Amino acid sequence: MKLLLFDIDGTLLLTNGAGTRAANRAFEKIYGIKNAMNRIDAAGKTDPIILKEIFMNELNRDFSKEEAQELYKHYVPFLEEETRKSEITVMPGVIKLLENLTSRKDMVLGVATGNIEEGAWIKLRSAGLDNHFKFGGFGSDSHSREQLILKALDRAKNHIAHPSHFEKIFVIGDTPYDINHGRAAGAVTVGVATGSYSRAELEEHSPDHLFDDLNNLEMVLRVFE
Ligand SMILES: [Mg+2]
Repeated sequence: MKLLLFDIDGTLLLTNGAGTRAANRAFEKIYGIKNAMNRIDAAGKTDPIILKEIFMNELNRDFSKEEAQELYKHYVPFLEEETRKSEITVMPGVIKLLENLTSRKDMVLGVATGNIEEGAWIKLRSAGLDNHFKFGGFGSDSHSREQLILKALDRAKNHIAHPSHFEKIFVIGDTPYDINHGRAAGAVTVGVATGSYSRAELEEHSPDHLFDDLNNLEMVLRVFE
């Protein structure tokens, strides 16, 4: 049995700014700070790390647990609203690939994403991709991508008959964070240059496999054999 863990933003889909707008609205509503996200490079970072960077930028301090909860409480309905208004882009080849993988008995699919869990499901639902996934590791599990990948692995064990063993774990993502943290978690890493990092930039981090996009189904499937 193999486990495939997909990153969301830039790998499966793009919300075309819906996530950024939702986070900006939450910050403005609570702290009166406008466009807080615009000074952040969020790609590949977990929500708690992004939150910390915003707090350090704007308020010169870290956040408390209560402050994070308050922000997420506003962010989630804003994200629902913004994804409804936004055109969601599903990355090339993703639908065909997920349909193929979901039908297979020797593979289990999950997500490994820096999004908090509620945010992740909203984004997946908005793109019509949520039915391919039952579990994942999320930014609400840990600020560390390595830890949230391990959490996804832990949860994956509830979804197979003989939970002691995955012969291989794959992490598929669009940033150096996915590659480096995936490797640290013991996964085979698959870079895909559909996000904000170019193929050459991803190449520097030596992923086990690297694609421009996931459009060539045959070639991509070969990696998971
Ligand atoms: Mg990403």
